[in-house]
Amino acid sequence: NTPLHELDPDVAAAVDAELHRQQSTLEMIASENFAPVAVMEAQGSVLTNKYAEGYPGRRYYGGCEHVDVVEQIAIDRVKALFGAEHANVQPHSGAQANAAAMFALLKPGDTIMGLNLAHGGHLTHGMKINFSGKLYDVVAYHVDEESGRVDMAEVERLAKESRPKLIVAGWSAYPRQLDFAAFRRIADEVGAYLMVDMAHFAGLVAAGLHPNPVPHAHVVTTTTHKTLGGPRGGVILSTAELAKKINSAVFPGQQGGPLEHVIAAKAVSFKVAASDDFKERQQRTLDGARILAERLVMADVTEHGVSVLSGGTEVHLVLVDLRNSELDGQQAEDRLHEVGITVNRNAIPNDPRPPMVTSGLRIGTPALATRGFQAEDFTEVADIIAETLKPSYDADALKARVSALADKHPLYPGLK
Ligand code: PLP
Repeated sequence: NTPLHELDPDVAAAVDAELHRQQSTLEMIASENFAPVAVMEAQGSVLTNKYAEGYPGRRYYGGCEHVDVVEQIAIDRVKALFGAEHANVQPHSGAQANAAAMFALLKPGDTIMGLNLAHGGHLTHGMKINFSGKLYDVVAYHVDEESGRVDMAEVERLAKESRPKLIVAGWSAYPRQLDFAAFRRIADEVGAYLMVDMAHFAGLVAAGLHPNPVPHAHVVTTTTHKTLGGPRGGVILSTAELAKKINSAVFPGQQGGPLEHVIAAKAVSFKVAASDDFKERQQRTLDGARILAERLVMADVTEHGVSVLSGGTEVHLVLVDLRNSELDGQQAEDRLHEVGITVNRNAIPNDPRPPMVTSGLRIGTPALATRGFQAEDFTEVADIIAETLKPSYDADALKARVSALADKHPLYPGLK
């Protein structure tokens, strides 16, 4: 029972340093969040010791009576949260959830459609060297150059030409809502399944602040750690008709023993996501992103070639367009890191710079909203970002403003 600090001071020191980093800087990576202490407690529990291949009530191991309870709670809660007929809570991650959903519905060589990676899609939506690009014939759709929105006319045209077996709607870097009903109409016209990957916006959906894809899609996949604010992991929701196919694609198709400690943490996060506090937090997440987009459009950084893709946002992130700026994505990411704000550079549609450099920044508000940031705090963050992206900036003064915000909203005050 030796504690971590005594048993392994090297790992303990790195964990402590990471806690300090999270507490003292402003986390604005759009796919990140801060899990509640209760979620981390469940994830750090003795459930990590248990093998439980199979599903509740139908396991291949003895002693599963308690993990059965936990997994069933997780299933019931996530079904209720999103109004789904079936849920599989075992995927270890979002990528695993997408792989299992595709294995359930497709054969190698089938055609799929997904949003192009550089236009905001995810690796698992058909990127060349991802399993999805290797196993399936991929026809990518794009955003419209002018509006920055998914070009539904192109989606329809490509679907009619290529007759895909599956259309994926979803994104990792896109600031607008998708029209799920239109995707379903197109899918039905060509006899394709519609899979929505709501990994990014699931928390907004749970709070009722974003359209719910579940009534429109055959399958909905998600991560549990982005806007949803739970442990790192994945979930697949589907119609009752597809339940058996989905379950056997996850286990034994793709995974062995489920991570019951993570499933326990997912269950806790689904309880949190059904609360009024969670809804209020998601509203602040959306308000923060809108304030950020508005301030960046207004700020005099626009004189220096900085703008916002699609002109604004309807979700928890803003995509900053640096195509006309002397700063590239890498330099902008480094500068913000220097003043204590963590973001990621991101390729944007028709990016003239290479993928490791890029001409974009993806900036998200979920983690700061979890930390308690209010509208006035997001205004200050937006102004700090705008100042940092100008040709000359006072790094020390900006760092002090970042520290003041971090001190105002302490993170994990009980943890050291
Ligand atoms: N789907 C989308 C839309 C994502 O943005 C991501 C992660 O960034 C994933 C799936 C993959 O999730 P994970 O990193 O848990 O495998």
